Amino acid sequence: MAIPIPTRQLFIDGEWREPVLKKRIPIINPATEQIIGDIPAATAEDVELAVDAARKALARNKGRDWANASGAVRAKYLRAIAAKITEKKSEIAKLEALDCGKPLDEAAWDIDDVAGCFEYYADLAEGLDAKQKAPVSLPMETFKSHVLKEPIGVVGLITPWNYPMLMATWKVAPALAAGCAAILKPSELASVTCLELAQVCREVGLPPGVFNILTGLGHEAGAPLASHPHVDKIAFTGSTITGSKIMAAAAQVVKPVTLELGGKSPIVIFEDVDLDKAAEWTAFGCFWTNGQICSATSRLIVHESIAAKFLDRLVKWTKNIKISDPLEEGCRLGPVVSGGQYEKVLKFIDTAKSEGASILCGGARPEHLKKGFFIQPTIISDVTTSMQIWREEVFGPVLCAKTFSTEDEAIELANDTQYGLGAAVISNDLERCDRVSKAFQAGIVWINCSQPCFTQAPWGGNKRSGFGRELGEWGIENYLAVKQVTQYISDEPWGWYQSPSKL
Ligand code: NAD
Repeated sequence: MAIPIPTRQLFIDGEWREPVLKKRIPIINPATEQIIGDIPAATAEDVELAVDAARKALARNKGRDWANASGAVRAKYLRAIAAKITEKKSEIAKLEALDCGKPLDEAAWDIDDVAGCFEYYADLAEGLDAKQKAPVSLPMETFKSHVLKEPIGVVGLITPWNYPMLMATWKVAPALAAGCAAILKPSELASVTCLELAQVCREVGLPPGVFNILTGLGHEAGAPLASHPHVDKIAFTGSTITGSKIMAAAAQVVKPVTLELGGKSPIVIFEDVDLDKAAEWTAFGCFWTNGQICSATSRLIVHESIAAKFLDRLVKWTKNIKISDPLEEGCRLGPVVSGGQYEKVLKFIDTAKSEGASILCGGARPEHLKKGFFIQPTIISDVTTSMQIWREEVFGPVLCAKTFSTEDEAIELANDTQYGLGAAVISNDLERCDRVSKAFQAGIVWINCSQPCFTQAPWGGNKRSGFGRELGEWGIENYLAVKQVTQYISDEPWGWYQSPSKL
């Protein structure tokens, strides 16, 4: 059954607006390789309009003043957005599946998470009112001081394609809760559901300019947003290479950035595990969302005494994963997002082979799927630490495996990466898990699992996986500026002339 993709424009100042240069980008269904619609392509001219609209939304004297609305008022809008998204869940989930190849039921989980995230930040927006004017204790009784937490201002939010609506929500919900006006630039490879988020904001009557969306290419729409002098902050999720460009652009005008970047995360399996449970977490940790997860635990480090048995079990698990059109019942792996990504992943596999690694399963297109960007989940062994497959992020369904003999060696292998996003350890010895989790150089550690993610808990990486944390209370702090307000409360003159030592 054909599902129509709504034809949308850019969303600026509460209205749909055709891009100034009238350019559009085709949408390709990765499961069929067919063009199923198009999205507007913003350029620097549209960025100017969106920045103007966002600034107006925060302006004190123009009757809008989102920044000074109470947290309770902002919470009301966020809850209305959550309710509307829940109402439209099945429609939005289908659009997500068509646009980026995500299995339909997993797309539906994402939309639940999106609604949950708006609800969560609605609660935090209300809590902000109570936290204002937090007193600071000072060593001089002639002064009193308090702290205000204020919205940073206009924020540019640049996001990737792997969880299109959810990654956008991780930024939009806390930014709006904090009182910022947001300009979202989603990935050109998957913008459809982000445009639906704009439609939802319109339907719930969010004041104009508070949320704007500029779909388009990175260098045409993202770059002018990142370097714009009237955008007060950039929050970015994407590859490390683009993150570094964003940081350089932001540095030109000295604006803060948070960066959620790539990863090459390890999963360490000790010799005392239940093989089936560990195999399932290993497969899920790397192949869920087709391995297109920043935190995918794509480097398996398994104890040498169980390696042969474990890999055998893992290969069996992996061969049972259902690969099909994302809309088909029971689909667990759809296509990767685009033709470019398909070529890139297969090239990684070819390079691993040419460097001497062995393919235990997968490594090619599934025979039963002649069209679409489908790749079998792939397990690679006989890997050395100098190989590309060990060092670089694939962002596809490819796991590489190495063995270890001691705990220290496992930790050394786990930390042998420029990245520091996620890391997992599986063992029945919880003291060992505790030691290993402390030794991991990563922002997120999983014990006896891999990948679960909760709106309440901080998310983000170290090293070249970026800095700053999203989600939880950390997520809203990204969009708040701290202001110190200090008052002189003595009736006495300050007396600087008499007593310089006072200061
Ligand atoms: P990408 O870096 O190619 O693009 C991300 C976004 O940046 C897109 O919207 C793109 O249009 C935009 N962009 C590209 N060039 C730009 C420029 N010069 N200036 C401004 N914007 C620009 O990343 P991707 O391929 O969309 O996503 C995959 C990457 O995202 C992976 O590396 C993955 O690990 C990472 N990721 C990280 C997290 C996390 O939480 N750490 C989550 C999801 C994805």
